[in-house]
Amino acid sequence: MAAFPEGKSEERKHMSIPNGSGASQGQWGRAWEVDWFSLASVLFLLTFSPLIVYYFIMSCDQYHCSLMDPIVDVLMGNSHLSDIWNKTPFLSWKAANIYICWVTFQVMLYILVPDFCHKFLPGYVGGIQEGAVTPAGTVNKYEINGLQAWIITHALWFVNAYYFHWFSPTIIFDNWIPLLWCANILGYAVSTFAMIKSYLFPSNPNDCKFTGNLFYDYMMGIEFNPRIGKWFDFKLFFNGRPGIVAWTLINFSYAAKQQELYGQVTNSMILVNVLQGIYVLDFFWNEAWYLKTIDICHDHFGWYLGWGDCVWLPYLYTLQGLYLVYHPVQLSTANAVGILLLGLVGYYIFRMTNHQKDLFRRTDGNCKIWGKKPQYIECSYTSVDGTKYYSKLMISGFWGVARHFNYTGDLMGSLAYCLTCGFEHILPYFYIIYMTILLTHRCIRDEHRCSSKYGNDWKRYTTAVPYRLIPGVF
Ligand code: NDP
Repeated sequence: MAAFPEGKSEERKHMSIPNGSGASQGQWGRAWEVDWFSLASVLFLLTFSPLIVYYFIMSCDQYHCSLMDPIVDVLMGNSHLSDIWNKTPFLSWKAANIYICWVTFQVMLYILVPDFCHKFLPGYVGGIQEGAVTPAGTVNKYEINGLQAWIITHALWFVNAYYFHWFSPTIIFDNWIPLLWCANILGYAVSTFAMIKSYLFPSNPNDCKFTGNLFYDYMMGIEFNPRIGKWFDFKLFFNGRPGIVAWTLINFSYAAKQQELYGQVTNSMILVNVLQGIYVLDFFWNEAWYLKTIDICHDHFGWYLGWGDCVWLPYLYTLQGLYLVYHPVQLSTANAVGILLLGLVGYYIFRMTNHQKDLFRRTDGNCKIWGKKPQYIECSYTSVDGTKYYSKLMISGFWGVARHFNYTGDLMGSLAYCLTCGFEHILPYFYIIYMTILLTHRCIRDEHRCSSKYGNDWKRYTTAVPYRLIPGVF
């Protein structure tokens, strides 16, 4: 890409400037100008996302997870919207206390307990790590201690469940809707605070983007890396904790509820716990790598991340376990093994694809991929100050199969979670439908950015690797 004055070009290697650093301000991350379509999408999402979450959870609570029955009930006049609303549990002091304790505990683990896992776990990268260079040229340092937070939290959970009995392991399920209101309060509070902060005391004013459109800025965020103090990073905290640490606990709570209601935990529930548990542990094991993903490198912190991490993720990513409490499914051994294999193969593709790119980029191509030296396309881009950078796009290993085979693996795993629930209802399939839309959109968004960044080099790359997700199809 040569969108900026070539005359002053100075040449540099990509290695010292990780993951897209130095791209022009004009093409970095989210838009500077808002078109009508983007604004309409933002307004749609701001209005309907909270309703979607409520609708899903309410339909499990009141209609045994049927998405159609509430609509039919209202259309036939058997129920009014007010009846449904009146039957919905309200915010309770108990839920508020649980939620405050939960978030406070996670904040304390995040800021007060420096990572010790990297000292004894071989291969694990934790402790203080650097993120990618931001558009304004800042390199933030992060305390990577998510794995430790996850281990401590889960150890306490099990000690409680099997020894101390301070609270019931079904506590999350039993307070699920009152907790939804708490999660919403936090989600809106943190997004609003982030917006106000970006006007009054931004962490790095040069990394703020103001479009002038209040709704768009609220949703997509203004500040790139809002922080309180030196270490409390909003993106890292809210992306990983409290939502993703909670994900596995929520699933345990569902399993405990099945045990309480039916005297046993079904193999489908065990599969959901195991497969999603691997995904969550993978996330924390690779938290340092996560600093180089699109969420941290390109997205600003607004409602999309703030509310999304507090509400959307813990409530909608865990729908399979919730469904299985209402509809316990005992899979045949063949089906259970088939689903387990699909989930594990998906996970393997997801992990190996991400690992191959990480290794390739870290070593500047001086590594082995599938036992051979990787093949790649040399590419260059020019930053806003006219500096020319060099980078490489790998075309071997999984990156030679498709341009986003990591997403394909992720989608296979997502499908496996859903299949554990059988075919009686559509609700548990929301996850694969949503992930397909999310990752396809993300793929197109990322390719648009890469095409602007690398220009003709990107064209050479797409000619060498013509498909995005599934070879021969898309
Ligand atoms: P990627 O890890 O795929 O990163 C894309 C970037 O990689 C591009 O912008 C480009 O950056 C670089 N790149 C692209 N092609 C190549 C290549 N051939 N060789 C070397 N570098 C290349 O994207 P994400 O950050 O979106 O995803 C990370 C993981 O997180 C994925 O596995 C995804 O499935 C998962 N994910 C899960 C979500 C969930 O909710 N469960 C949500 C989102 C993601 P550059 O500018 O440096 O060239």
